[in-house]
Amino acid sequence: MLDTDAFRRWMAAAAAAVEREAGHLTELDAAIGDADHGANLRRGFTAVAAELEKGAADSPGAVLTLAGRQLISTVGGASGPLYGTLLRRTGKALGDAGEVGPGQLAEALGAGVAAVGQLGGAKVGDKTMLDALEPAVAALARAADGPGAYAAAAEAAARGAAETVPMRARKGRASYLGERSEGHQDPGATSAALLLAALAEAAGE
Ligand code: ADP
Ligand code: MG
Ligand code: MG
Repeated sequence: MLDTDAFRRWMAAAAAAVEREAGHLTELDAAIGDADHGANLRRGFTAVAAELEKGAADSPGAVLTLAGRQLISTVGGASGPLYGTLLRRTGKALGDAGEVGPGQLAEALGAGVAAVGQLGGAKVGDKTMLDALEPAVAALARAADGPGAYAAAAEAAARGAAETVPMRARKGRASYLGERSEGHQDPGATSAALLLAALAEAAGE
């Protein structure tokens, strides 16, 4: 079971990963977007980490809700409202539970991912963050009763991100490139895989 501290560690690990990988995320976005994905997420997760260090948020759901709010208010790009919605909606679905298991988190993340789809109008296969998020949530739900559920989710997200390489983008800036978006890994799917890896790390997997 993951408690409030584990969710704080998740967000801290995500902030550290984004800091470490900002250059790579921006490089990916330079190929099929506007070269700001690393900077966008770095600004957002720096704000999330700073806000959480102040001590607010006293449940797993409150940690994610606060993080989502910060992302929405600090990130100008498409990814801010989308990741913000993911975390806020997931946090809301967790309610005021003090500890959360993999099955419960899979269900809550499923609601968050559905909200991202509704906000951005994208589906799996459109070469977006959803191509990493959807398989991750499915893997977490499948593995929920055994050990290593979070690691399985992180692996599924990384695989999903890699599978965006041959896809043609149908949503977001990359879609303006049409077939020229093929052959490049989607920046948002790549950062989504970082987010899931940070969860596995926080869970000790
Ligand atoms: P911007 O495109 O505004 O510069 P970012 O570079 O921060 O924003 O984020 C780009 C990423 O956002 C894309 O790689 C993609 O994964 C994701 N994205 C863009 N539009 C959508 C959408 N409609 N639905 C889901 N994800 C999207
Ligand atoms: Mg961009
Ligand atoms: Mg931009």
